[in-house]
Amino acid sequence: MSEQVHTMTNPSTDPSCPTPADLHPSTRAVRAGLSSDPAFGAVVAPLHLSVSYEFDDPGRPGRYDYGRSGNPTRDLFGQAVADLEGGATGTVTASGMGAITTAVMALLPANGSLLAPSDCYGGTWRLFEALRRTGRIGRLNYVDFSDTAAALAAIAAGPDLVWLETPSNPLLRIADLARLSDAAHTSGALVVADNTFASPIVQRPLAHGADVVVHSATKYLNGHSDVIAGVVVSADAERGAELAWWANTLGVPAGAFDSYLALRGLRTLHLRVAAAQRNAAAVAELLNRHPAVRAVHYPGLPQHPQHELATRQMDGFGGIVTFELADSAAAHAFTDGLRCFCLAESLGGVESLVSVPATMTHASMSAQAQQAAGITAGMLRLSLGVEDTSDLVADVAAGLDRALAAN
Ligand code: PLP
Repeated sequence: MSEQVHTMTNPSTDPSCPTPADLHPSTRAVRAGLSSDPAFGAVVAPLHLSVSYEFDDPGRPGRYDYGRSGNPTRDLFGQAVADLEGGATGTVTASGMGAITTAVMALLPANGSLLAPSDCYGGTWRLFEALRRTGRIGRLNYVDFSDTAAALAAIAAGPDLVWLETPSNPLLRIADLARLSDAAHTSGALVVADNTFASPIVQRPLAHGADVVVHSATKYLNGHSDVIAGVVVSADAERGAELAWWANTLGVPAGAFDSYLALRGLRTLHLRVAAAQRNAAAVAELLNRHPAVRAVHYPGLPQHPQHELATRQMDGFGGIVTFELADSAAAHAFTDGLRCFCLAESLGGVESLVSVPATMTHASMSAQAQQAAGITAGMLRLSLGVEDTSDLVADVAAGLDRALAAN
């Protein structure tokens, strides 16, 4: 196959895309890829499963040649996410970790220096640690990015790549995207922001200076917990082409059917996120006043240490709430008997989930790293879905009463 890799450009600058930039994000998400079928005029974009595409002649491929390097269904989804993030290109990968791997391979020089959050998704931590252990990352430092002074000092030490996760997983710490991106650029570093927790409805890191955004599309973008996928969005088209080249070369692009489902899910992102945020706010408020709860981590609460920053940099506070009970026995008492939450990993779906980060999502972190991140045995992370608010609040209240009785 040829070396060509298809990257979609921002629809606002690509005449082949019919979603004008002056429309609201919700409208653009709903309309992404509609009426793009020249064969039959289908309103919903068709699912293209073909691996191969015909060449005009042996030296002249058409727009597509081979399904790993480009697929029309996948490109529509990547284009739609890039559009929502305000980026130039969107490369769709087979998982969020595929997006993260692609970004690291493309952006970190050999033996380079990476500055990462002390609390981030456990799989991200595991990848970075493995790359350091095997000599592919020269220097790996961690910092709590919600401590802006400490983060600025760490950036001044001259990393090649600054990796932000804001809100962070699972502690929902907020990093000052504009200040840290500015400092990183001054010291010659690129900035990647994992925007999985916020989704582009709540936060658009490129507008605050980040160079690249990564997503686990498994979460809010698809939103129905039936697709594993990721997206890397680049502010800059040339860097975006490089990211797409790496995804193709690594062999991590997403399948067409997953891309089709994710694009379908994306159309309701704004509705789902609004409902999840409403539920998260109600549950956080309950947690905040219940005697079983030792701490609540939700940027929407006025006492969250970065509440003011979150208010400035985000359009809402997201649908994830983390809180701490006395110990793991209390955590078990809470989860045992829930009616509206599944005890399961992942987040960002229409259904509410509860997880215990220490033994579930962050189990791949060493005990020492968990401690440094602030992850405790009695910590629980809720991903609020779109169910009725009063059902969720009643379920959490009953769980908290069980936890209190267990102590
Ligand atoms: N980034 C964050 C913040 C996550 O929470 C996750 C998964 O939970 C990932 C990346 C990895 O995504 P995936 O599971 O789609 O590989």
